[in-house]
Amino acid sequence: KLGDVISRLDLRGAALSSLDARALRTTLPRAEFDVEAALATVRPICEQVHHGGVEALLELGEKFDRVRPTSLRVPAAVIAAALDQLDPAVRAALEESIRRARTVHEDQRRIDTTTQVVPGGTVTERWVPVDRVGLYVPGGVAVYPSSVVMNVVPAQVAGVGSLAVTSPPQATNTGVFAGYPHPTILAACALLGVDEVFAAGGAQAIAMFAYGAADADGTVVCEPVTLVTGPGNIYVAAAKRLLKGLIGIDAEAGPTEIAILADDSADAELVAADLISQAEHDDLAASVLVTDSTDLADRVVAALERRSALTKHTVRVNTALGGRQSGIVLVDGLDEGIRVVDAYGAEHLEIQTRDASAVAARIRNAGAIFVGDYAPVSLGDYAAGSNHVLPTGGCACHSSGLSVQSFLRGIHVVDYSRDALADVADVVVTLANAEDLPAHGEAVTARFPTAQ
Ligand code: NAD
Repeated sequence: KLGDVISRLDLRGAALSSLDARALRTTLPRAEFDVEAALATVRPICEQVHHGGVEALLELGEKFDRVRPTSLRVPAAVIAAALDQLDPAVRAALEESIRRARTVHEDQRRIDTTTQVVPGGTVTERWVPVDRVGLYVPGGVAVYPSSVVMNVVPAQVAGVGSLAVTSPPQATNTGVFAGYPHPTILAACALLGVDEVFAAGGAQAIAMFAYGAADADGTVVCEPVTLVTGPGNIYVAAAKRLLKGLIGIDAEAGPTEIAILADDSADAELVAADLISQAEHDDLAASVLVTDSTDLADRVVAALERRSALTKHTVRVNTALGGRQSGIVLVDGLDEGIRVVDAYGAEHLEIQTRDASAVAARIRNAGAIFVGDYAPVSLGDYAAGSNHVLPTGGCACHSSGLSVQSFLRGIHVVDYSRDALADVADVVVTLANAEDLPAHGEAVTARFPTAQ
């Protein structure tokens, strides 16, 4: 019975107050996601791509995706065919998703700011997009055309000039699509005007972006990129960690998570539906309910049992809900609940309490917050306009989700006149000497020979 395997963590009374922030964090349910261990698997894969280029990528596709890509780069005609055969309802939904994402992300665009520090002395922060990005779109257990939208839209709004997408080749594709990523992913690329798409998944795809890839006669098929973004499984995360530095990466993404903070006013059916929607992603997905109402907890468990039996991916849902990463956390009240969800730092946090907006305003750590009864996480997955590539595994305590900002660098442009430098010369010389770096001071005094 599902109710018997869903864990309950009772943090009422002294159980919570005796824990400091770090101890609380380790007490809460969370998936084992050992990226360090996966490094041993991905290191030889990345080496193989580094030295073997396109041929290595085709071989690794055959090995891990059970299909040798027909060509590494997806031909324009195949991308066009995917758009032609796209179900009109899916096309309309993707177009609406793109429209809303653009509306929100366009508002995130940074403007350059110039600060006049003193007369004749200015510092400008200029926001410049990275030159070329590689966007990873997962395609193992499920395919995610929505992740094409969530990666491409902010990169385009940021003004990135060169943009490539990669996704694993699908063994089940037939006809012109055989040996390529899922046609819906290709169609989403077409709708967004992306024509550089590769049939590569996992660690090998990240290595392709980091090193670039050429074929046997030296023709470059994929130019290296400067930044890789996008969610993926543990092998994708490990390759990003391994190649970080050579390339920039977004926050490392692990298995997806939902935490729901609910009081006795919450609708148990809605809470259960949302916990199940997250559990549907994969066996390691985390669904955590934090509540001060044992009555609600009982009603949610009953609703989970009923609803999970009726949903399509019952086995996956039950595995995720019964896993150590999921469960119900009981607390004394709302303040304690906020302390728990802040310590957890969920990728997705729903607030289903009285005065949900006021409660949401008090939250400090979450990838994204969904407020009240009418903002389920699945709205954010597809069509809220917000981004669904979000920090997991507690990384929301220090990192943000994907946004236009992820694709920009802020360059400080320092412009001082002779007089403005003369005014502050003593400060520079004094601090340079204090750090025992006198040549730093001399670089300033050299500009004022008469003053020496
Ligand atoms: P994936 O595309 O990330 O991984 C598939 C690839 O993994 C394959 O192409 C293969 O090359 C590689 N691989 C598989 N088994 C391997 C092995 N034994 N050794 C080496 N490489 C191997 O797809 P996935 O597996 O379905 O994972 C997608 C993940 O992305 C899920 O965890 C999902 O929850 C997550 N996701 C997160 C978000 C987000 O915004 N955070 C959005 C969508 C999906």
